Amino acid sequence: MTDVLVAGAGPVGLTLALALHRRGVAVRVLEKRAELSTASRASTFHPPTLEALDELGVFAALRPGGVQVDRILWRRVDSGEGAILDLGILKGETRFPFRWHREQQFLTPALLAALPAGTVRFHAGISALAQDERGVAVTCEDGSTHRARYLIGCDGSSGAVRGLAGIATETSDYAHRVLRLLTPLDLRDHVPGLDGLGYLYDASGSCSLLRMPQVWRVILRVPPTMTDDEALSEGHARAQLARFLPQVGGMPIDGRDVYGVRKAMAVGYRAGRVLLAGDAAHLTNTRGGMNMNAGIHDAMTLAATLRRVLDGGGEALLDAWADARLGTVRNALLPRTDARVAAAPSGEVARMAALAPDQQRAWAREASMLDIAKVGAP
Ligand SMILES: Cc1cc2nc3c(=O)[nH]c(=O)nc-3n(C[C@H](O)[C@H](O)[C@H](O)COP(=O)(O)OP(=O)(O)OC[C@H]3O[C@@H](n4cnc5c(N)ncnc54)[C@H](O)[C@@H]3O)c2cc1C
Repeated sequence: MTDVLVAGAGPVGLTLALALHRRGVAVRVLEKRAELSTASRASTFHPPTLEALDELGVFAALRPGGVQVDRILWRRVDSGEGAILDLGILKGETRFPFRWHREQQFLTPALLAALPAGTVRFHAGISALAQDERGVAVTCEDGSTHRARYLIGCDGSSGAVRGLAGIATETSDYAHRVLRLLTPLDLRDHVPGLDGLGYLYDASGSCSLLRMPQVWRVILRVPPTMTDDEALSEGHARAQLARFLPQVGGMPIDGRDVYGVRKAMAVGYRAGRVLLAGDAAHLTNTRGGMNMNAGIHDAMTLAATLRRVLDGGGEALLDAWADARLGTVRNALLPRTDARVAAAPSGEVARMAALAPDQQRAWAREASMLDIAKVGAP
């Protein structure tokens, strides 16, 4: 009998499946789609996530063509005032004292390839579930039925499993949407001190610059009163580039999109034999690039916990895991992301420039999630 069913073949579900498989747990993944998603979403892998993926043997697949980011830049475009934080300050705390920029669509195929053939069943969106004291039975949209001792909902923010298990969420929207512009221009040649991540400010707003393998992402907030069409217009893009990057305001733009940002948290991560991880459990603003990373940390800690439970460790371990992971979201992930979103543009560069080395280290530990990644591990 399958020990664990995983709903969803996103980065979290596949990490969980591989971490369980490596621990000798019989696992099957049920995925609604016909194939893995190739949507352009997460870009950033933080140090503890790199450690986890390296432990699973898949970081090697993200390395070719990826971007190692050693330094973060903050700069006022009006005064030229700047601050730089070298992530090398984390040497001694992690084997990977840097951020790695690579699209998440390169992680999921690497995870899939590392699993035994047939572990993932596509076209298998879960549409019903029932549980008793010995296991969970699910029915999929393709008519197939499956049974296992536990079911983990890693099915993203729409959270079908969460709904079927009767777990409520607390949800709210951020006040802005995000405009993302892609340019092939190497912004390092035009912004002094820029490595792979930069935050540019004027007195009233900010713009983020992320270096990806082939392009830079230029990320801007869309005012609540502006429509998506207005935000996507050439006139708006050029006005924002003239504001934050006047030296290259006419840069080629290869792609652009607008997306909404939400905050959500399941009120509990466990309902009997059903547990949640990843976007199904928590959602944050993309600022800081933490939500997928947190989901991968959910997966790694849950895999270790499930192994212990299957070995007879007792189901109280699952409650302890669920409470601990929910606590990191409530007390660290959401407040940390919100603080970055709410930071006053006018003071942020001066604040970062004034940090003493021990404060820089503390900031880098939090930004890299080193303090929360292993919370919940048994
Ligand atoms: C523009 C953008 C940029 C981002 N940047 C970052 C970043 O830099 N760093 C970061 O950490 N995070 C980032 N994120 C967040 C990140 O993309 C998500 O946190 C991540 O995809 C969550 O992974 P997941 O596996 O939990 O869910 P998903 O990736 O949503 O995968 C869920 C899977 O479940 C499947 N599914 C849905 N319903 C069912 C069902 N009923 N039955 C079975 N399967 C089902 C779906 O088809 C999907 O394949 C970004 C998000 C966006 C939109």
